[in-house]
Amino acid sequence: MKYTVNTYKLIQKTQLAKGIFDFCIYCPEIAETAVCGQFINVKAEGFFLRRPISICGIDRRNGTLRIVFEVRGKGTLALSKLNTGDMMDITGPLGGGHFTMLSPDKKAVIVGGGIGNPPLVPLALHYGKNATVISGFRNESAVILQSDFAKNGADVILCTDDGSAGRKGFVTDALAERLDAGECDIIYACGPMVMLERIAKAAKLHGIPCEISLEERMGCGVGGCLVCACRISRNGSEEYLHVCKDGPVFNANEVIFND
Ligand SMILES: Cc1cc2nc3c(=O)[nH]c(=O)nc-3n(C[C@H](O)[C@H](O)[C@H](O)COP(=O)(O)OP(=O)(O)OC[C@H]3O[C@@H](n4cnc5c(N)ncnc54)[C@H](O)[C@@H]3O)c2cc1C
Repeated sequence: MKYTVNTYKLIQKTQLAKGIFDFCIYCPEIAETAVCGQFINVKAEGFFLRRPISICGIDRRNGTLRIVFEVRGKGTLALSKLNTGDMMDITGPLGGGHFTMLSPDKKAVIVGGGIGNPPLVPLALHYGKNATVISGFRNESAVILQSDFAKNGADVILCTDDGSAGRKGFVTDALAERLDAGECDIIYACGPMVMLERIAKAAKLHGIPCEISLEERMGCGVGGCLVCACRISRNGSEEYLHVCKDGPVFNANEVIFND
């Protein structure tokens, strides 16, 4: 895994919703090699461990990356206080397992839950009108990225838990309907573990390949520690792999969910 460690300028900052921020960072070396599904590890001022944040957009021509993150604790709070022009200490691109991009004429169903939505944006853009994006949020005030998903013509289905925007209910209900209704060549998902487990089951039931991006607490982010171990079943045996260096994207069929 080849990555760089350097400081890069934050060139645009937008607040998308309460506690959710959208950063555009000028980092040509990372943008040059990054692929969809990878992440960067960002140092927050005053904290030893870096914070992993998924890549939400790659613009090679302008040498920029986009990240979208939610304030969850002290580290992300510190990051949210950065301003345009500030320098950010970043390691990236990270992740050995990334999303498999099929030909854009294949039919993709892309399912995101909450702050699991950002890494899925490049997939919606890649498949365009052949993509169905099912994105779920707690309520209307947490909804983000809808116009980004729709930009290249994807069919976007918004779900909220309380019905305050889009349809009421979980993304897994909308997924079941979509899979019953028509053809699908691949499913991608990122979000809470319980959601991923249900999506993995639905994909298996329909015999559709499925890739999921896992979010585990991380230490080093480059495979040097075992903090982000996840249980995988491969070639008939079980093994522990690192989410940081072997993932974060895995074949859903191989992930062993906690019983
Ligand atoms: C591969 C990957 C991609 C991610 N992409 C995004 C994204 O695009 N947008 C977004 O908002 N969040 C994302 N997260 C989650 C984000 O990393 C955590 O919310 C963040 O690290 C929390 O840090 P904190 O200091 O605010 O919280 P605290 O809870 O104070 O963090 C304490 C420690 O736990 C670690 N930690 C806490 N929660 C998580 C978590 N869920 N995953 C990993 N480490 C955690 C922190 O890095 C820190 O070392 C991603 C996580 C992973 C593993």
